[in-house]
Amino acid sequence: MVQPYKHEPFTDFTVEENRKAYLQGLKTVEGYLGQDYDLVIGGERISTEDKIISINPSNKEEVIGRVSKANKELAEKAMQAAVEAFKTWRKVKPETRADVLFKAAAILRRRKHEFSALLTKEAGKPWKEADADTAEAIDFLEYYGRQMLRIKDGVPVNSRPNEFNRYDYIPLGVGVIISPWNFPLAIMAGTTVAAIVSGNTVVLKPASATPVVAAKFVEVMEEAGLPKGVLNFVPGSGSEVGDYLVDHKDTRFISFTGSRDVGLRIYERASKLNDGQIWLKRVIAEMGGKDTIIVDKEADLELAAQSIVASAFGFSGQKCSACSRAVVFEDVYDQVLNRVVELTNQLTVGNPEDQNTFMGPVIDQNAFNKIMEYIEIGKQEGKLKTGGEGDSSKGFFIKPTVFADLDPKARIMQEEIFGPVVGFAKAKDFDHAIEIANNTEYGLTGAVISNNREHIEKAREDFHVGNLYFNRGCTGAIVGYQPFGGFNMSGTDSKAGGPDYLLLHMQAKTTSEMF
Ligand code: NAP
Repeated sequence: MVQPYKHEPFTDFTVEENRKAYLQGLKTVEGYLGQDYDLVIGGERISTEDKIISINPSNKEEVIGRVSKANKELAEKAMQAAVEAFKTWRKVKPETRADVLFKAAAILRRRKHEFSALLTKEAGKPWKEADADTAEAIDFLEYYGRQMLRIKDGVPVNSRPNEFNRYDYIPLGVGVIISPWNFPLAIMAGTTVAAIVSGNTVVLKPASATPVVAAKFVEVMEEAGLPKGVLNFVPGSGSEVGDYLVDHKDTRFISFTGSRDVGLRIYERASKLNDGQIWLKRVIAEMGGKDTIIVDKEADLELAAQSIVASAFGFSGQKCSACSRAVVFEDVYDQVLNRVVELTNQLTVGNPEDQNTFMGPVIDQNAFNKIMEYIEIGKQEGKLKTGGEGDSSKGFFIKPTVFADLDPKARIMQEEIFGPVVGFAKAKDFDHAIEIANNTEYGLTGAVISNNREHIEKAREDFHVGNLYFNRGCTGAIVGYQPFGGFNMSGTDSKAGGPDYLLLHMQAKTTSEMF
């Protein structure tokens, strides 16, 4: 019997014991700052001269770790280790594979606050955001383990007298996992273990901004009993190692989460047949978003303002699901806008290690520069209502920024900024609001704040996003509760944390025997 799944609860940091546990986690992490981390290929630890230096985005001086950097030769070695390990791993019982995930979840749960503190240090996540990232990683382990147990015997198909038919799912082969820095634990772990529990072996290339948390997770999987060669760890440059692995003839599938442009590049390269390749590569791609909250005139306007602020500025707006557009009925536009500005001005921005900080830094200098450029564009396109300033002298801090009175086609309203910037536009009526919400090339998340049942039903049909929420913000999908993935340029709609996800890493085999 498959044990029921329940998501990992978020930690209540008003409880003194939990507060202390998190601070203890920070101490643990401070005890290992600046250490070296190796590649892991076929279970062998390999150190290279060339290192990725991971720094704290709140304090550029602080080195989180020095991580060995793979080149093409080492990527090749990792690929061969994965090819070799696939021969045996694919035959390991699904129950045994799932148990590795359940044990890893137990280890992560025991070290929960240490991992969260590491996310605070390496990715700049405030306590609550870091805690949610760690909880989601635990959820993926628990959920995908159970999903594997559910599909391990395939699904029933019809048989006839003297004929017995079966329909089973078998693994694909070697998967290349390429993960982003914004959920450096949850997405990196989730995409990796989904592939592994389905019987594949993987080569994991984590984001270069957050390789230490990935290295620590690889250690957890080893401790949980994963055989050598099943998970090969090759941090390195996206353009060098990433391209090499994507192009490789032995790559059977690529599971990518990241930006639209890199996703498109991978999709295109993966479609090309290379010498010796005997399959069509599969690509799972979860890409960017330009997510909208619609506010109806018949709505709880305080809920609307709170939802916009939380969704726009949580983790400095660096979520693919972040609200970067508010489309508000003209009758209530001023009221909602003024309240959002008021709430935004109350947000605390600073060092995420401080429990009272709502918003920490953005990830690095490039992100800082790009967001500040968009803020300049916003000043031309709309009215700056609050924020608009940044300071990258110590860390990469940008004030939460609100622009008003934007044309829905303005760049600020069309392009993914991936920072703490939200734009407001007016809608004449509900049809107009939906038209604006749908007018980007993305289709990831959206929300509607409304008490009008007809409008809610209309949005259910016409608001074209993978994850649509009513009377709440547009971030914070929970594994197993709100499977996650988007339409159009937001990706292949893989629905991570959903009932179909593992099947993307498998192929169905029909067998028919005559008696
Ligand atoms: P990114 O720049 O696209 O990087 C993602 C990963 O791709 C990194 O590991 C990166 O390596 C690697 N990469 C870069 N160039 C590559 C290449 N030529 N071939 C193969 N891999 C390559 O994205 P990011 O800045 O880390 O993450 C933010 C983006 O992710 C946003 O657009 C956000 O919306 C999206 N996102 C989407 C979802 C979703 O579920 N839809 C979830 C989270 C984030 P390096 O780090 O070494 O460059």
